[in-house]
Amino acid sequence: MTSAMTNAMTKAMTNTTTLACSRRSALASFTLAAAAGCQASAPFAQAPDSEPHPSAPPSPPSISPLATPVVLSTWRHGLPANAGALRALARSGTALDAVEAGCRVVELDCPDMTVGLGSRPDRDGFVTLDAAIMTDDGRAGCVAFVQGVAHPISLARLVMEKTPHVLLAGAGAEQFARECGIEVAPPKLTPEAERQWREWLVEKKYEPKVNIENHDTISMLALDTQGRMAAASTTSGLAYKMHGRIGDSPIIGAGVFVDAPIGGAICTGLGETVLRTLGAHLAVEAMRAGASPQEACEHAIARIIAKNGDPKSYQVGMLALDYRGRVGAYAVQKGFNYASGTNLVDAPSKLG
Ligand code: ASP
Repeated sequence: MTSAMTNAMTKAMTNTTTLACSRRSALASFTLAAAAGCQASAPFAQAPDSEPHPSAPPSPPSISPLATPVVLSTWRHGLPANAGALRALARSGTALDAVEAGCRVVELDCPDMTVGLGSRPDRDGFVTLDAAIMTDDGRAGCVAFVQGVAHPISLARLVMEKTPHVLLAGAGAEQFARECGIEVAPPKLTPEAERQWREWLVEKKYEPKVNIENHDTISMLALDTQGRMAAASTTSGLAYKMHGRIGDSPIIGAGVFVDAPIGGAICTGLGETVLRTLGAHLAVEAMRAGASPQEACEHAIARIIAKNGDPKSYQVGMLALDYRGRVGAYAVQKGFNYASGTNLVDAPSKLG
């Protein structure tokens, strides 16, 4: 180690142990970091950490709850998802119940054919599904590359609640589903999915198209009136992807992340770009450093663009939420919309 490195480390440690840094100075450092090309990570240690991971169900974080819940979902199909989530909350459900219920609505009926068993298949003609669910105390469950399961989001919740694991994939996840009494249907395409796949087979051209046809995951964030936050995502991933491909959606920190008492973030779009940067985690850590949810989304999208080449060739949309109910939304390209409660909102974007 050079003496310059030793000096830098000593300085960094002194800065960290001082811990006198106010929220305002954390935000100032964050803004400087963003202006410097989003490379600096120093300001990310200053806000309080959440409670350690408990083995028992959590107690709500010590945050003043809002009088009304907040529910956010990606894309237009977020409207029926939010309606399902709000119904769950009206039945005294928690934020966790809300995001599961909302995702289930779209898993059953997704006009875009991008979520659930009615989706477009991979390039070999199989619909393979990914899902993740997370609560703000650090509990999480995910399934990846599952086939024949109508509600991967509920299977992900069972992974979280009934196993010591976080992520089950493929045949193992399907075996777990059967053990839980969940039907695993044999592979079968809907007539429309089969028609489109056969059309695609003529040229076999794999070309993700921005905003349309190829991807449109439902990702959700909910904050209930007890001050609990949860996040979820469920998708068939990219249409005509390679068999075995898994995107960002079932990966904690990539497609979804939530952490009390900071907030949560969710993503949609070209999963590879989000996986390379752990986009949702990046946004939550920016909020921990003092960024607003909007600044956090812009920071994460800037990093995604910095790490993934020509941004004209892909889309990523991101939503973030904090415990004050503040919402952030930002995308690489124009065209990303989201449901906030019962409203459909167009998100601002980097490329306009
Ligand atoms: N993020 C998903 C994936 O890459 C797709 C999407 O959100 O549209 O699998």
